[in-house]
Amino acid sequence: MRTPVEIFDDACRTWGFNQATRFFPIPDALSGLFEGRRTLAQSQIAILSGLFRAGHKINIYVDFVDSGELNAVADVRELWGLVGLLRGTVLLPLDMFSRMLAHPKVLPDIGDPSKESMHAQHTEGLVPDFDQLTASRRSAGQSPEPLSPVDPLRSRFASLAAEIAYDFLVLHELSHIMYGHCEYLQAKNGIPFILEVAHRSPTDAQDNRLRQAIEFHADKCSAHIGLSSMLSFSNEVPSAFAPIYSTPEQRLFLWCFAISGVFRLWGLRIDPSELDAEGYPPTALRFDMAMRVAHGMLRDKHPKLAAGFKTICHDAQDELDSAVVQIGGNRLAREDVIHLNDARTDSHVRAVFRYANRTLVPALEKYSYLQFPKVEQQ
Ligand SMILES: [Zn+2]
Repeated sequence: MRTPVEIFDDACRTWGFNQATRFFPIPDALSGLFEGRRTLAQSQIAILSGLFRAGHKINIYVDFVDSGELNAVADVRELWGLVGLLRGTVLLPLDMFSRMLAHPKVLPDIGDPSKESMHAQHTEGLVPDFDQLTASRRSAGQSPEPLSPVDPLRSRFASLAAEIAYDFLVLHELSHIMYGHCEYLQAKNGIPFILEVAHRSPTDAQDNRLRQAIEFHADKCSAHIGLSSMLSFSNEVPSAFAPIYSTPEQRLFLWCFAISGVFRLWGLRIDPSELDAEGYPPTALRFDMAMRVAHGMLRDKHPKLAAGFKTICHDAQDELDSAVVQIGGNRLAREDVIHLNDARTDSHVRAVFRYANRTLVPALEKYSYLQFPKVEQQ
């Protein structure tokens, strides 16, 4: 019987990230960071495994793929659920949030921003691939090393935001495996694995509806589980983190800031004339749905916090938008998101959810390892 590492090594070659292989050995300078991220993924697996349905169980192996993209993959092979996280899922959000907090004008109420100063990296903008980013630093004669905020609290804020971003991706991929998305797609369409972000592959509209319903479902699970576990964290918050992580409002702000950052790295966009043309929902719609799920979860479980959700969420997105500008990126344009309010978008979302409720959810009953549905379709 093959080991999960052998299975992962083989699977890597078929995932299509320019032939990238498993990220191994991990250089000494990065091993602490990546081992910490591996532990974080293991703890999410342990929590979700506690929710297995009687008689249903799957082992999951998580590892990293040697590519600088912000991307991930879920696959099921030889009775193993495989989560492949590209090196960029760890390094890109951390680099972006660190650059932001290392700027004196970003989030001036966090820690002591006067310790920070402007740097050449504050003109780089948002680059969607970590390897491109470091290559351009080298070619400009700069150090490729990410900038770190000087103020310790600002540095902790950046690290926490990067962890939340990573956690969102891990939970999304785990949902694809544990709710049976991968095996259902394998059985139905012969689709062997699910990439988090893929280039457009022409398929028919019905197929796209199925894929979009699956992506919405994974995002819903991820947003729901990620935010609710952050809010229910009841251990004493270490004093070093107290000013940014003590109250539910602070945690919600951090979560909204981090998730907004992930979607800005992907680029927010929506074209109402192309809604059915892709197997992935437009990023602006995914972001909007993630925030709606968060709001819905708060209304159920934290009604007091739900009352302030819109303000906190709006503040976090505003701060994130300013931070993007301070590191050389573009402010979010009205055209990037205005079509969220388009009647075509509304009817598309309704059609996808109708499909999810009538077709996908009943079909997944057979494949899901977890009680289903854990997250109500809205
Ligand atoms: Zn996905």
